[in-house]
Amino acid sequence: MTNTPSPVTATVDFGVYGVQHGHLQLPWSRDESAWGSVMIPVTVIRNGSGPTALITGGNHGDEYEGPLAILDAATSLDPAAVSGRIILIPFMNAPAVHAATRTSPIDGGNMNRAFPGRPDGTITEKIADYFTRYLLPMADIVLDFHSGGKSLDFLPFAACHTLEDKAQEARCRAARDAFCAPFSLQMLEIDPSAMYDHAAESQGKTFVTTELGGRGTATPETVAIARRGLRNLLIHAGILAGDIDAAPTCHLTQDDAACFHFAPDAGMVEFTVMLGDAVTCGETLARIWPLYHTGIEPNVITAQTDGLVMVRHHPGLIRQGDCLAVLASETGPTKE
Ligand code: ZN
Repeated sequence: MTNTPSPVTATVDFGVYGVQHGHLQLPWSRDESAWGSVMIPVTVIRNGSGPTALITGGNHGDEYEGPLAILDAATSLDPAAVSGRIILIPFMNAPAVHAATRTSPIDGGNMNRAFPGRPDGTITEKIADYFTRYLLPMADIVLDFHSGGKSLDFLPFAACHTLEDKAQEARCRAARDAFCAPFSLQMLEIDPSAMYDHAAESQGKTFVTTELGGRGTATPETVAIARRGLRNLLIHAGILAGDIDAAPTCHLTQDDAACFHFAPDAGMVEFTVMLGDAVTCGETLARIWPLYHTGIEPNVITAQTDGLVMVRHHPGLIRQGDCLAVLASETGPTKE
Protein backbone atom coordinates (compact mmCIF):
# COMPACT_ATOMS: atom_id res chain seq x y z
CA MET A 1 0.00 0.00 0.00
CA THR A 2 1.27 3.49 -0.87
CA ASN A 3 2.65 5.93 1.69
CA THR A 4 1.56 8.95 -0.35
CA PRO A 5 -0.67 11.13 1.87
CA SER A 6 -4.31 11.44 0.84
CA PRO A 7 -5.34 14.78 -0.68
CA VAL A 8 -8.57 14.47 1.38
CA THR A 9 -8.75 16.45 4.62
CA ALA A 10 -11.46 16.10 7.27
CA THR A 11 -12.94 19.20 8.90
CA VAL A 12 -13.93 16.98 11.85
CA ASP A 13 -11.52 15.46 14.40
CA PHE A 14 -12.30 11.73 14.66
CA GLY A 15 -10.67 11.61 18.12
CA VAL A 16 -12.86 14.27 19.75
CA TYR A 17 -15.80 13.38 22.03
CA GLY A 18 -19.27 14.76 21.32
CA VAL A 19 -21.11 15.40 18.05
CA GLN A 20 -19.41 17.00 15.05
CA HIS A 21 -20.90 17.77 11.64
CA GLY A 22 -18.34 18.57 8.96
CA HIS A 23 -16.92 17.46 5.63
CA LEU A 24 -14.29 15.40 3.91
CA GLN A 25 -12.76 17.96 1.58
CA LEU A 26 -11.04 16.89 -1.65
CA PRO A 27 -9.40 19.39 -4.04
CA TRP A 28 -11.20 19.43 -7.43
CA SER A 29 -9.66 21.91 -9.84
CA ARG A 30 -11.89 22.69 -12.81
CA ASP A 31 -12.91 25.44 -15.22
CA GLU A 32 -15.52 27.03 -12.96
CA SER A 33 -13.48 26.72 -9.74
CA ALA A 34 -9.70 26.66 -10.10
CA TRP A 35 -9.01 25.81 -6.46
CA GLY A 36 -12.40 24.21 -5.72
CA SER A 37 -13.26 21.09 -3.72
CA VAL A 38 -15.55 18.09 -3.56
CA MET A 39 -17.24 18.34 -0.14
CA ILE A 40 -18.51 15.06 1.38
CA PRO A 41 -20.66 15.59 4.51
CA VAL A 42 -19.65 13.58 7.59
CA THR A 43 -20.98 13.33 11.15
CA VAL A 44 -18.93 11.87 14.00
CA ILE A 45 -20.59 10.95 17.31
CA ARG A 46 -18.24 9.83 20.07
CA ASN A 47 -19.03 9.10 23.69
CA GLY A 48 -17.62 6.80 26.37
CA SER A 49 -15.61 3.79 25.27
CA GLY A 50 -16.63 1.17 22.75
CA PRO A 51 -16.25 0.11 19.14
CA THR A 52 -16.39 2.29 16.04
CA ALA A 53 -19.09 1.92 13.39
CA LEU A 54 -18.57 3.32 9.89
CA ILE A 55 -21.92 3.82 8.15
CA THR A 56 -22.15 4.81 4.49
CA GLY A 57 -24.79 5.54 1.86
CA GLY A 58 -24.54 7.11 -1.57
CA ASN A 59 -21.75 4.75 -2.67
CA HIS A 60 -23.90 4.83 -5.80
CA GLY A 61 -25.62 8.16 -6.37
CA ASP A 62 -29.12 6.94 -7.31
CA GLU A 63 -29.88 4.84 -4.23
CA TYR A 64 -31.85 6.55 -1.47
CA GLU A 65 -32.78 4.42 1.55
CA GLY A 66 -29.29 4.50 3.06
CA PRO A 67 -28.73 8.25 2.70
CA LEU A 68 -32.20 8.95 4.15
CA ALA A 69 -31.61 6.69 7.17
CA ILE A 70 -28.14 8.16 7.77
CA LEU A 71 -29.31 11.78 7.48
CA ASP A 72 -32.01 11.03 10.03
CA ALA A 73 -29.51 9.35 12.38
CA ALA A 74 -27.11 12.30 12.11
CA THR A 75 -29.82 14.68 13.33
CA SER A 76 -31.54 12.44 15.88
CA LEU A 77 -29.01 10.12 17.57
CA ASP A 78 -28.57 10.95 21.25
CA PRO A 79 -24.82 11.00 22.01
CA ALA A 80 -25.57 10.10 25.65
CA ALA A 81 -26.87 6.72 24.38
CA VAL A 82 -23.60 6.04 22.49
CA SER A 83 -20.70 3.97 23.82
CA GLY A 84 -17.97 4.27 21.25
CA ARG A 85 -17.94 6.12 17.95
CA ILE A 86 -20.31 6.36 14.98
CA ILE A 87 -19.04 7.81 11.69
CA LEU A 88 -21.95 8.68 9.40
CA ILE A 89 -21.34 9.43 5.69
CA PRO A 90 -24.63 9.60 3.76
CA PHE A 91 -23.12 10.65 0.41
CA MET A 92 -19.97 8.61 -0.11
CA ASN A 93 -19.80 9.46 -3.81
CA ALA A 94 -21.20 12.99 -3.35
CA PRO A 95 -20.76 14.09 -7.00
CA ALA A 96 -22.80 11.07 -8.14
CA VAL A 97 -25.48 11.80 -5.51
CA HIS A 98 -25.76 15.42 -6.72
CA ALA A 99 -26.20 14.18 -10.30
CA ALA A 100 -28.60 11.37 -9.22
CA THR A 101 -26.45 8.93 -11.17
CA ARG A 102 -24.83 5.64 -10.21
CA THR A 103 -21.36 6.82 -11.20
CA SER A 104 -19.52 10.10 -10.79
CA PRO A 105 -20.20 12.77 -13.44
CA ILE A 106 -16.63 14.04 -12.86
CA ASP A 107 -14.68 10.99 -13.96
CA GLY A 108 -17.29 8.29 -14.69
CA GLY A 109 -16.03 6.51 -11.57
CA ASN A 110 -18.13 3.72 -10.07
CA MET A 111 -17.21 4.00 -6.37
CA ASN A 112 -17.92 0.34 -5.72
CA ARG A 113 -15.53 -0.71 -8.49
CA ALA A 114 -12.76 1.78 -7.52
CA PHE A 115 -11.22 0.13 -4.44
CA PRO A 116 -8.63 0.15 -2.99
CA GLY A 117 -8.29 3.48 -4.82
CA ARG A 118 -5.27 5.74 -5.34
CA PRO A 119 -4.21 9.01 -3.66
CA ASP A 120 -2.96 10.23 -7.08
CA GLY A 121 -5.83 8.79 -9.14
CA THR A 122 -9.17 10.12 -10.33
CA ILE A 123 -11.56 11.92 -7.94
CA THR A 124 -13.43 8.65 -7.34
CA GLU A 125 -10.18 6.74 -6.73
CA LYS A 126 -9.00 9.43 -4.29
CA ILE A 127 -12.21 9.07 -2.24
CA ALA A 128 -11.88 5.28 -2.29
CA ASP A 129 -8.25 5.53 -1.13
CA TYR A 130 -9.27 7.73 1.81
CA PHE A 131 -11.77 5.09 2.90
CA THR A 132 -9.21 2.28 2.48
CA ARG A 133 -6.31 3.90 4.35
CA TYR A 134 -7.95 6.34 6.80
CA LEU A 135 -11.60 5.47 7.58
CA LEU A 136 -11.75 1.66 7.40
CA PRO A 137 -8.76 1.22 9.77
CA MET A 138 -10.69 3.21 12.43
CA ALA A 139 -13.76 0.96 12.16
CA ASP A 140 -14.76 -2.26 13.88
CA ILE A 141 -18.11 -2.66 12.13
CA VAL A 142 -18.97 -1.33 8.67
CA LEU A 143 -22.43 -0.94 7.12
CA ASP A 144 -22.69 0.15 3.47
CA PHE A 145 -26.24 0.81 2.26
CA HIS A 146 -27.21 0.03 -1.33
CA SER A 147 -30.43 -0.23 -3.31
CA GLY A 148 -31.11 -1.02 -6.94
CA GLY A 149 -30.69 2.46 -8.36
CA LYS A 150 -32.40 3.39 -11.60
CA SER A 151 -31.79 0.08 -13.39
CA LEU A 152 -32.70 -2.60 -10.82
CA ASP A 153 -35.36 -3.38 -8.22
CA PHE A 154 -34.55 -5.64 -5.24
CA LEU A 155 -36.35 -7.55 -2.54
CA PRO A 156 -35.25 -5.65 0.59
CA PHE A 157 -32.31 -7.54 2.10
CA ALA A 158 -29.21 -7.22 4.24
CA ALA A 159 -26.29 -9.31 3.05
CA CYS A 160 -22.88 -10.66 3.86
CA HIS A 161 -20.43 -12.83 1.97
CA THR A 162 -18.77 -16.20 2.33
CA LEU A 163 -15.25 -15.48 3.68
CA GLU A 164 -12.10 -17.54 4.16
CA ASP A 165 -11.97 -16.50 7.84
CA LYS A 166 -14.98 -18.35 9.23
CA ALA A 167 -14.91 -16.46 12.55
CA GLN A 168 -15.12 -13.17 10.62
CA GLU A 169 -17.87 -14.63 8.41
CA ALA A 170 -19.85 -15.55 11.55
CA ARG A 171 -19.43 -11.98 12.91
CA CYS A 172 -20.70 -10.55 9.62
CA ARG A 173 -23.65 -12.97 9.55
CA ALA A 174 -24.64 -12.11 13.13
CA ALA A 175 -24.56 -8.38 12.33
CA ARG A 176 -26.54 -8.95 9.12
CA ASP A 177 -29.19 -10.92 10.99
CA ALA A 178 -29.37 -8.25 13.74
CA PHE A 179 -30.24 -5.69 11.01
CA CYS A 180 -33.56 -7.61 10.66
CA ALA A 181 -34.30 -6.80 7.02
CA PRO A 182 -37.24 -8.76 5.57
CA PHE A 183 -34.64 -10.89 3.74
CA SER A 184 -31.12 -11.89 4.83
CA LEU A 185 -28.82 -13.04 2.03
CA GLN A 186 -25.56 -14.97 1.79
CA MET A 187 -24.53 -13.01 -1.29
CA LEU A 188 -22.59 -14.00 -4.39
CA GLU A 189 -20.89 -11.09 -6.23
CA ILE A 190 -20.32 -11.04 -10.00
CA ASP A 191 -17.02 -9.12 -9.74
CA PRO A 192 -15.92 -8.51 -6.12
CA SER A 193 -12.24 -7.51 -6.39
CA ALA A 194 -12.55 -3.69 -6.57
CA MET A 195 -15.57 -3.39 -4.26
CA TYR A 196 -15.70 -1.50 -0.95
CA ASP A 197 -17.08 -4.75 0.52
CA HIS A 198 -13.83 -6.54 -0.33
CA ALA A 199 -11.68 -3.66 1.00
CA ALA A 200 -13.52 -3.76 4.35
CA GLU A 201 -13.54 -7.55 4.59
CA SER A 202 -9.85 -7.84 3.69
CA GLN A 203 -9.09 -5.57 6.69
CA GLY A 204 -10.93 -8.04 8.93
CA LYS A 205 -13.92 -5.77 9.54
CA THR A 206 -17.42 -6.95 10.39
CA PHE A 207 -19.11 -5.90 7.15
CA VAL A 208 -22.79 -5.76 6.19
CA THR A 209 -24.26 -4.45 2.96
CA THR A 210 -27.88 -4.05 1.84
CA GLU A 211 -30.10 -3.85 -1.21
CA LEU A 212 -33.34 -2.28 -0.05
CA GLY A 213 -35.43 -1.55 -3.12
CA GLY A 214 -34.58 0.43 -6.22
CA ARG A 215 -36.09 2.03 -9.33
CA GLY A 216 -34.25 5.25 -8.51
CA THR A 217 -36.47 6.11 -5.55
CA ALA A 218 -37.42 4.98 -2.04
CA THR A 219 -40.72 4.02 -0.40
CA PRO A 220 -41.92 4.58 3.20
CA GLU A 221 -41.52 0.84 3.79
CA THR A 222 -37.95 0.59 2.51
CA VAL A 223 -36.83 3.75 4.37
CA ALA A 224 -38.33 2.30 7.57
CA ILE A 225 -36.36 -0.92 6.99
CA ALA A 226 -33.16 1.12 6.60
CA ARG A 227 -33.75 3.18 9.76
CA ARG A 228 -34.65 0.17 11.88
CA GLY A 229 -31.72 -1.82 10.49
CA LEU A 230 -29.19 0.92 11.19
CA ARG A 231 -30.39 1.28 14.79
CA ASN A 232 -30.48 -2.50 15.28
CA LEU A 233 -26.94 -2.88 13.94
CA LEU A 234 -25.59 -0.18 16.28
CA ILE A 235 -27.31 -1.87 19.25
CA HIS A 236 -25.95 -5.26 18.14
CA ALA A 237 -22.43 -3.77 18.03
CA GLY A 238 -22.80 -2.53 21.62
CA ILE A 239 -22.49 1.10 20.48
CA LEU A 240 -26.09 2.23 21.00
CA ALA A 241 -28.17 1.57 24.11
CA GLY A 242 -31.60 -0.02 23.70
CA ASP A 243 -33.28 -3.20 22.53
CA ILE A 244 -33.14 -4.59 19.02
CA ASP A 245 -36.44 -4.08 17.19
CA ALA A 246 -36.71 -7.67 16.01
CA ALA A 247 -38.60 -8.53 12.84
CA PRO A 248 -39.00 -11.80 10.94
CA THR A 249 -36.46 -12.40 8.19
CA CYS A 250 -36.34 -14.94 5.38
CA HIS A 251 -32.86 -16.38 4.80
CA LEU A 252 -31.69 -16.61 1.20
CA THR A 253 -28.56 -17.89 -0.49
CA GLN A 254 -27.11 -17.82 -3.99
CA ASP A 255 -25.64 -21.21 -4.77
CA ASP A 256 -23.88 -20.52 -8.07
CA ALA A 257 -23.73 -18.27 -11.13
CA ALA A 258 -26.83 -19.92 -12.63
CA CYS A 259 -28.89 -17.56 -10.44
CA PHE A 260 -27.88 -14.60 -12.66
CA HIS A 261 -29.95 -13.99 -15.82
CA PHE A 262 -28.75 -11.50 -18.45
CA ALA A 263 -30.52 -10.18 -21.54
CA PRO A 264 -29.22 -11.90 -24.70
CA ASP A 265 -30.69 -9.11 -26.83
CA ALA A 266 -32.06 -5.61 -26.45
CA GLY A 267 -35.79 -4.98 -26.46
CA MET A 268 -38.95 -4.30 -24.48
CA VAL A 269 -39.29 -6.43 -21.36
CA GLU A 270 -42.49 -8.22 -20.47
CA PHE A 271 -41.89 -9.78 -17.06
CA THR A 272 -44.06 -12.79 -16.28
CA VAL A 273 -42.93 -12.91 -12.63
CA MET A 274 -42.79 -10.41 -9.78
CA LEU A 275 -40.20 -9.81 -7.06
CA GLY A 276 -40.55 -12.51 -4.40
CA ASP A 277 -42.23 -15.04 -6.72
CA ALA A 278 -41.01 -18.62 -6.39
CA VAL A 279 -40.05 -20.04 -9.79
CA THR A 280 -38.82 -23.44 -10.93
CA CYS A 281 -36.05 -24.19 -13.40
CA GLY A 282 -37.35 -23.78 -16.95
CA GLU A 283 -40.21 -21.48 -15.98
CA THR A 284 -40.57 -18.30 -18.04
CA LEU A 285 -39.20 -15.17 -16.29
CA ALA A 286 -39.74 -12.66 -19.09
CA ARG A 287 -40.27 -12.15 -22.78
CA ILE A 288 -38.10 -9.61 -24.58
CA TRP A 289 -39.87 -8.15 -27.61
CA PRO A 290 -37.98 -6.64 -30.56
CA LEU A 291 -38.15 -2.87 -30.96
CA TYR A 292 -37.72 -2.51 -34.71
CA HIS A 293 -40.04 -5.13 -36.28
CA THR A 294 -43.50 -6.60 -35.90
CA GLY A 295 -44.35 -10.20 -36.54
CA ILE A 296 -41.30 -11.58 -34.71
CA GLU A 297 -41.63 -13.88 -31.72
CA PRO A 298 -40.20 -12.51 -28.45
CA ASN A 299 -37.06 -13.90 -26.87
CA VAL A 300 -38.29 -16.05 -23.98
CA ILE A 301 -36.02 -16.01 -20.92
CA THR A 302 -36.44 -19.01 -18.66
CA ALA A 303 -35.16 -19.68 -15.15
CA GLN A 304 -31.82 -21.51 -15.11
CA THR A 305 -32.47 -22.77 -11.58
CA ASP A 306 -35.17 -22.86 -8.90
CA GLY A 307 -35.52 -19.87 -6.57
CA LEU A 308 -37.20 -16.68 -5.47
CA VAL A 309 -37.02 -13.66 -7.78
CA MET A 310 -34.64 -11.45 -5.80
CA VAL A 311 -33.81 -8.79 -8.43
CA ARG A 312 -35.60 -7.52 -11.51
CA HIS A 313 -34.46 -5.19 -14.24
CA HIS A 314 -36.05 -1.76 -14.32
CA PRO A 315 -37.45 0.07 -16.35
CA GLY A 316 -39.25 -1.32 -19.41
CA LEU A 317 -36.48 -1.32 -22.01
CA ILE A 318 -33.41 -3.52 -21.74
CA ARG A 319 -30.04 -3.60 -23.51
CA GLN A 320 -28.03 -6.63 -24.56
CA GLY A 321 -26.05 -7.88 -21.55
CA ASP A 322 -28.14 -6.10 -18.92
CA CYS A 323 -29.01 -7.99 -15.76
CA LEU A 324 -32.61 -9.13 -16.29
CA ALA A 325 -33.25 -11.06 -13.07
CA VAL A 326 -31.46 -12.84 -10.24
CA LEU A 327 -32.83 -15.75 -8.24
CA ALA A 328 -31.98 -16.82 -4.70
CA SER A 329 -32.77 -20.01 -2.79
CA GLU A 330 -34.68 -19.97 0.44
CA THR A 331 -32.76 -21.57 3.28
CA GLY A 332 -32.83 -21.77 7.05
CA PRO A 333 -30.56 -19.49 9.07
CA THR A 334 -26.95 -20.42 8.18
CA LYS A 335 -25.36 -22.35 11.01
CA GLU A 336 -21.87 -21.48 12.25
ZN1 ZN B 1 -25.30 0.38 -5.07
